[in-house]
Amino acid sequence: MVFFRKSEEEAPKLSSELRELRAAVEKTSLPPEVASVVAKELERLEKTDPSLPEYTIGINYVEYLLALPWHNSTEDNLDLKRAEHILASQHFGLPHVKERILEYLAVRTLYLERPFQVLVVDDEEIARTNLEHILKKDGHRVKTAANGLEALERLKEQKFDLILTDLKMDKMDGIQLLEAAKEIDPHAAIMMITGYATVDSAVEALQKGAVHYLSKPIKIDELRASVKKISEKKHLMQEMRGPVLCFSGPPGTGKTSIGQSIAEALERKFVRLSLAGLRDEAELRGHRRTYVGAMPGRIINEIKRLGVKNPVFMLDEIDKVGQGFKGDPASVLLEILDPEQNSHFVDHYLDVPFDLSGAMFITTANVVENLPRPLLDRLEVIVFPGYSENEKREITKQYLIPRQLRHHGLSHFTLEFTEPAVLKIIRGYTREAGLRNLEREVATVCRKLARQCLKSEGGSCPRLIDEDLVEQLLGPRKFIHEVTEAQNRIGVTTGLVWTEFGGEIIFVEAASMMGNKQLILTGSLGSVLQESAQTALSFIRSHAKQLNIDPNFFADQDIHIHIPAGSIPKDGPSAGLTIALALISLLTDRPARRDVALSGELTLSGRILPVSGIREKLLAAQRAGVRIVILPQRNAVDLNDIEDELKEGLEVVLATEIDEALLDRVLTPQ
Ligand code: ADP
Repeated sequence: MVFFRKSEEEAPKLSSELRELRAAVEKTSLPPEVASVVAKELERLEKTDPSLPEYTIGINYVEYLLALPWHNSTEDNLDLKRAEHILASQHFGLPHVKERILEYLAVRTLYLERPFQVLVVDDEEIARTNLEHILKKDGHRVKTAANGLEALERLKEQKFDLILTDLKMDKMDGIQLLEAAKEIDPHAAIMMITGYATVDSAVEALQKGAVHYLSKPIKIDELRASVKKISEKKHLMQEMRGPVLCFSGPPGTGKTSIGQSIAEALERKFVRLSLAGLRDEAELRGHRRTYVGAMPGRIINEIKRLGVKNPVFMLDEIDKVGQGFKGDPASVLLEILDPEQNSHFVDHYLDVPFDLSGAMFITTANVVENLPRPLLDRLEVIVFPGYSENEKREITKQYLIPRQLRHHGLSHFTLEFTEPAVLKIIRGYTREAGLRNLEREVATVCRKLARQCLKSEGGSCPRLIDEDLVEQLLGPRKFIHEVTEAQNRIGVTTGLVWTEFGGEIIFVEAASMMGNKQLILTGSLGSVLQESAQTALSFIRSHAKQLNIDPNFFADQDIHIHIPAGSIPKDGPSAGLTIALALISLLTDRPARRDVALSGELTLSGRILPVSGIREKLLAAQRAGVRIVILPQRNAVDLNDIEDELKEGLEVVLATEIDEALLDRVLTPQ
């Protein structure tokens, strides 16, 4: 069939394709292992019929290997002052985050990227200069000393990773130097060189803590290899000590943007890869080259796209990998994140190791509690808390508005947002822990202003953006202060919960009707929440008398508990107290105060156990206009750590059990 046979003219063209590829290979510097794979592949291709799919697969494969940045890295900028300035100038607040990141950068970059420091001690000048020359050529930083005493002076001035010393020297010999040096720096690695190598002196030096022993005449290769081995071991130990950062917090709290600032500070490229919804290991690690459409994984693809092997690599939402994931997500991620393993990361498509250890991986997660334990153990979690209203106001004025004005070409107009206008956008159009929607709303205002300013050609472009103009541009407000503007009702209580979006308020509704002792639960409640509801009901039934409730209330009734916003799945034990109060309100006919919000786990005996996410819950309470927050007594310690600003306008009441005083706080008289 003509269909498959290449025409006479086509054949030379294809082999010229191969010739070009060979020429390209010769021009590219590849690691030896890769070079031999490429050579083999080219050999195989020469014998392959160009009409076969294997031919195309092979050509693509070699081209891909050639295009990877095997040796390309950007040079790090290690100026910490500059890093501090960049972090501060791009982000408001977040003092803990900034401080931790600067410490991290200080340790990681200064320690890791610092050249290996060697002190060469020899009383023969020629030997000294030769050693210095060889080691400097390998990129080590070298200082020299002509005898033991001079070496000790140097050691007092600075730390060395390795001391390379002659054994036989006047005044102080190598062994004496070793002992004295160990006193100054117990971690210093010492390598002994001697022309009089006897087993005894070798053993003595090693026993006294020397790491290695070289005999004269020194073989250059052996010297270089031993120094390299020691330096790699030291670096690896440091790397292994350094955990991978994990930024955790609700969306829009600045995780990505801090990552970008880190990259900018280090002058590295930045890439962000979202792992949300990742289903298959092959997406990260590539497909084997068994079919034409086989592709490398996303990690290697990004590295190729960037053209450098040491970017700041942000793996976003690692807590969202998992459901339905083929393979074990934690082990794949560990392999990518662990410097010991990622220095020879094998993508299935590449089939040769690629060194990812130069990349700085940063992970993000909304809820770290969802992460598998082995993964969590390797991460250092830095919490990005939600922002208070004051912080949002400052960030809007100082960062979001100027940035959006710039993006919308409005910087040269003298536009000014009034304080009430900023507050109006925050309160009336957003309800979130972070700043995503806030930034979007500010952008909408700017977009509409841009149009007005253009329409009027500068003439009547508004100078002052006040509350009314905001409403005019954004339309009627989207959110009201739910709790202050709603009526107190029987059987409805306000609760505080913690979700991946930060703190939220919920309303628990309880109703009773004729029936036969059924507890009906609705509103996408998870199993722990359902059990909390059952516990709350049993507590009330068993304490009916003390609570002034008819002990037979359940005999011919059904009770229904509903938590609206039914499409959002809810779970966790912290709504137990809120549910109990909704039931007591219902059964005692006392309306519950909307502006009192509760959070606490309830035991069968009515004790209130501590809950998590206190900070986020207080922020949610503030956002919603709550006045009194009731929390478990055992959360008092968490409250101490929270800035006063977050408690502003809130009365926090701590409770140990459901008693008269607590009921009077939450329920109004009948
Ligand atoms: P995340 O990655 O946590 O979802 P982003 O980094 O995308 O959040 O932040 C959303 C927006 O808010 C970005 O435009 C970011 O620059 C801005 N932002 C967040 N935190 C701050 C802050 N502390 N100061 C100034 N801008 C901030």
